[in-house]
Amino acid sequence: MRFATFVHNGKRQVGQVSADGQQLTAFVLTDAQTRHGAQCLIDAMVAGQPLPALAKESLPLSSVQLEAPLPIPRRNVWCVGRNYHAHAKELQASVFKDSNTDAKAWPIVFTKVPECVVGPTDDVQLPGATVSEQIDYEAELAVVIGQGGKNIRQADAMQHVFGYTVVNDVTARDVQMRHQQWDMGKSFDSFCPMGPWLVTADEVDGRKTRVRCWVNGELRQDGPTENMIFDIPTLIETISRGITLYPGDIIATGTPAGVGMGLNPPRYIAKGDVIRVEIDGVGHIENRFV
Ligand code: MG
Repeated sequence: MRFATFVHNGKRQVGQVSADGQQLTAFVLTDAQTRHGAQCLIDAMVAGQPLPALAKESLPLSSVQLEAPLPIPRRNVWCVGRNYHAHAKELQASVFKDSNTDAKAWPIVFTKVPECVVGPTDDVQLPGATVSEQIDYEAELAVVIGQGGKNIRQADAMQHVFGYTVVNDVTARDVQMRHQQWDMGKSFDSFCPMGPWLVTADEVDGRKTRVRCWVNGELRQDGPTENMIFDIPTLIETISRGITLYPGDIIATGTPAGVGMGLNPPRYIAKGDVIRVEIDGVGHIENRFV
């Protein structure tokens, strides 16, 4: 199933996407239930409850404004740094090169604040030259947790995956490099476009799909998720060590090679650029930078 959060007639709704992707059918929900988008469906399914009733009439996708499936994540978005071999290689000349053996044994994990999430076609706000002149894209598969847990073992990890969505882990490189922690350079307002919907794990296997990114129509990133350094079960095991994961938690799994910083010379995002991120079996997001 594909669950979308959208605005229709000025009201946030959550619905199911038709097989052809052209229609949406809203669930009958209260405003309190739709406040956090598809979170209410995740909670219901994890609790073993039936899904809410569907409205009698469907809406054409073209008549609604899609939002991020989880427009207000319950807490920070978990993110993984440097998780594809070719991407790690392209950053060897930068400050983000491996500096110790631990960096190879454990994934880099940081977070983005929940307020930076925007929808799949929303504009992303460039912060202005006084704040950062090195804005970069990172196309990523995001895992959405279903059943929560702590100290989840790799062997059990996939049972905790509710589904997948697409994110662009937009990054201010100069700010990322300035601070020992990455959260600031990753969390500017609107720096986490997400969508177009949440696809349940029975429809796509995040371990075997493909992440692509275009900048103004030019293909820049194209990587199979089999090329992750730390696979999805390893990431879930690592992040849940001593920390309880909850239904609706989001893990952005890292980006393939081809980011602007990795090009020679680097090519950062300029005003008016349109970045499209697509993942096979999940969908695509496309955002203009303004
Ligand atoms: Mg990233």
